[in-house]
Amino acid sequence: MTQTANRSGDFPSHIVRKQIASILEKVHDPEIPGVSIVDLGMVLDIRPENSHWHIDLAVTYSGCPAIDVIPILAKAILAQDGFADAVVEMQIAPPWSTEWISERGNDKLLAWGIAPSNKKSAHHDFGIPKQCPQCGSTDTSLISAYGSTPCKAMYRCDVCHETFDYFKCY
Ligand SMILES: [Zn+2]
Repeated sequence: MTQTANRSGDFPSHIVRKQIASILEKVHDPEIPGVSIVDLGMVLDIRPENSHWHIDLAVTYSGCPAIDVIPILAKAILAQDGFADAVVEMQIAPPWSTEWISERGNDKLLAWGIAPSNKKSAHHDFGIPKQCPQCGSTDTSLISAYGSTPCKAMYRCDVCHETFDYFKCY
């Protein structure tokens, strides 16, 4: 590993990598506040490159307006914490999967009233919610393939009758 010229250049790269990862914990998808891009499994790679650090982020949902905002937010937060020369690049491959969301990320989504994704099902190509975020029931019905944003679908719980957003799986 090459040493870098930024202010963390005196530290071994694995330490700086951890430092950058913890800075990225502060970057949230504007559509799902409280869940960091780290929890969403979007951070693909953090590596030293010549004189700067390079961060590859996975594109979650193409067509989501947040996709344009996230690299700008990430760069601003990295600059604030001493990595002004970091390069943030969005990568469409490998294709991001909701299975990359950490357990903590899914817990936070649930706390926000967004049902965590389930694996693909035979019923819908975007999977089915694991459970109702209100009561935990697994009996849910699709109301609309589009929820409050294009990345979500709207469901209703058959038990408590609450409607909720479901983070679609692709
Ligand atoms: Zn319910």
